[in-house]
Amino acid sequence: MVDKDKGKAHIVQYLKELHLPTIREIYEAVAREAEQESLGYEGYLLQLLQRECEVRRQKRIERYLQESSLPLEKNIETFDLKRLPAKVRNQVSLLREGFFLDKRENILAFGNPGTGKTHLLCAIGQELVRQGRRVLFVKCSLFVQQLLGAKRDLRLAQQLKKLKKFEAVLIDDIGYVQQDREEMEVLFTFLAERYEQGSVMITSNLPFSKWEKIFKDPMTTAAAIDRVVHHSVIIELNIPSYRMEAARKKTQHEKEAAA
Ligand code: ADP
Ligand code: MG
Repeated sequence: MVDKDKGKAHIVQYLKELHLPTIREIYEAVAREAEQESLGYEGYLLQLLQRECEVRRQKRIERYLQESSLPLEKNIETFDLKRLPAKVRNQVSLLREGFFLDKRENILAFGNPGTGKTHLLCAIGQELVRQGRRVLFVKCSLFVQQLLGAKRDLRLAQQLKKLKKFEAVLIDDIGYVQQDREEMEVLFTFLAERYEQGSVMITSNLPFSKWEKIFKDPMTTAAAIDRVVHHSVIIELNIPSYRMEAARKKTQHEKEAAA
């Protein structure tokens, strides 16, 4: 009996040292199950390792979701895919697989306000995080301010390096807020650094023809578009605004109810 207790203390100690908390928690219960089911040594070991890896994976994904800053309510379950044109629906089902990340391709979603650009790209981003990939969501205006702050503190290179750990950076609403030249420059630096190194996912109400509003001079604009477009998937959402449609339906219902 004394030996058994000693053995247990050692097991617990080793598992602590090896950082295997799940195995530590379950190994005794699983051993009893294994005995009942005549699982054998290898079967038992397999069970323990599977559970440890599964719990780790879940924790990692929770951590990635946290660090992503994605608005989690904008997911694929809450998104009505039927509103999308067939072509876009096909694009979405491919993008959800995440191959574009391996190829370091970009996703660019264009369309008028309210067409679901932000929701759709966030939903794709969240799907990818749930597959274990790292994505960062940023609002363009805020992102630019952060980069600018870093530049002023002579930390821009460091900041850009930090962003490399993300396979995709989702920049929401590029061009929505007019930027001054300095702000545009850091944004351009980011895009140029990221080119072929990692994916960007961009939403914008401005078609390329109006990107001069963002990047000010024609040369920089052309250079920015060139880099972003080179390996990219373009999603065109030329559909009615979801909000407008929802509002219209609501008034219609009210009218019908009143009639
Ligand atoms: P955009 O970024 O194009 O301006 P959003 O993604 O912010 O549009 O969408 C506007 C609002 O409409 C959001 O509340 C969003 O959740 C909702 N919405 C847009 N498209 C859909 C859709 N297909 N299914 C469900 N909700 C949608
Ligand atoms: Mg938006």
